[in-house]
Amino acid sequence: MKFGGTSMAGTERIRRVARIVQRQQAAGHEVAVVVSAMAGETDRLVNFCREANPLYDPAEYDVVVASGEQVTSGLLAMHLQALGCKARSWLGWQVPIKTDDAHAKARIEDIDAEAMLASMASGEIAVIPGFQGVAPTGRVTTLGRGGSDTSAVAVAAAVKADRCDIYTDVDGVYTTDPRIVAKARKLKNVTYEEMLELASVGSKVLQTRSVSLAMKEGVRVQVLSSFIDDDAPAADTIPGTMIVSDEELEGLDMERQLITGIAADKNEAKITLTRISDRPGAVAAIFGPLAAANINVDMIIQNIAKDKGETDVTFTVPISDLARTQALLEERKDTIGYYRMLSNSKVAKISVVGVGMRSHAGVASTMFRALADRGINIQAITTSEIKVSVLIDEDETELAVRVLHTAYEMDGE
Ligand code: ASP
Ligand code: MG
Repeated sequence: MKFGGTSMAGTERIRRVARIVQRQQAAGHEVAVVVSAMAGETDRLVNFCREANPLYDPAEYDVVVASGEQVTSGLLAMHLQALGCKARSWLGWQVPIKTDDAHAKARIEDIDAEAMLASMASGEIAVIPGFQGVAPTGRVTTLGRGGSDTSAVAVAAAVKADRCDIYTDVDGVYTTDPRIVAKARKLKNVTYEEMLELASVGSKVLQTRSVSLAMKEGVRVQVLSSFIDDDAPAADTIPGTMIVSDEELEGLDMERQLITGIAADKNEAKITLTRISDRPGAVAAIFGPLAAANINVDMIIQNIAKDKGETDVTFTVPISDLARTQALLEERKDTIGYYRMLSNSKVAKISVVGVGMRSHAGVASTMFRALADRGINIQAITTSEIKVSVLIDEDETELAVRVLHTAYEMDGE
């Protein structure tokens, strides 16, 4: 079971979480619980780091930001004990959850769950702070923002859980953000690949890495609400959205819509380098240094060379990496050989996702037509087998999502 920040924000909410956990144990399950920090806490801690030093040491950043989850794991164990359950916290280094040493964005390498499993078998509920691990150096690491989801899936895989229930402030995965489209529908099932695409394009329900890990490890994940009454349907009846493999989906849901979901992502910034010479190695000179600095580039467009053998290259990076990207490219202005660097962080990426697209033509053209009819300009396009994404002006995000939800006939009652 995993509980997010809003579910853990304060005494009353943690008490409710404790009751939900107690009920699962009473239903006959051995339970491991992964918790997030209280909502807003990690942001608060990150701010302290930035104030201390804008170029802070990521290892010390981890020491600071990992503390949020330490607090909630201890508190949940106390609440469970108050209900008469046996429970204890297991910090990242105690389990241990072994990661690499890429501080602030560490990857889990191995979880040695033996001691924890023995404790669970004796009836003790294991409470694990999400987001944190331990590097080979023995220092605390964190997994990147939203990393508790990944912790939960990794723990589920390590203990060979029947299911990984991710409790959050929504009751499942929707066709799109219900705050933008009132007619958004809750999905009963979604495939790993669809969820991966939706997560990577801004549907904030789960961290992307948690979904790829679940797919790789075959962990069955349910997304469901923690804001429920004591007589709400039990988690075992699957009241939320199940994330499953393609094969499992085929048995579950024959009559699926062509498009499963639409997501909007305002966290990318667009950079254009103008008048780069059209020669082998030009783009390698741009993206090599970005890769070395661990900056994830998403959309990339290279224009056809103009008569002078020059071309413009446009790409997107996370807004949080924009300043670093600009600095890196500025330093290499002469080696890369560009004329100007333009950037714009007021963009949004809108994506339509669905495994149904594999066997249907016309998905992209429906999108372009619907946006054109509303006068929305497309600045960049990328596609995958099950996704079409476009980059548009940030101010048109909500309009675009609504228009597309209707265009693909996804509106519910
Ligand atoms: N507390 C961390 C964050 O806010 C990790 C998480 O909640 O998933 O990013
Ligand atoms: Mg989260």
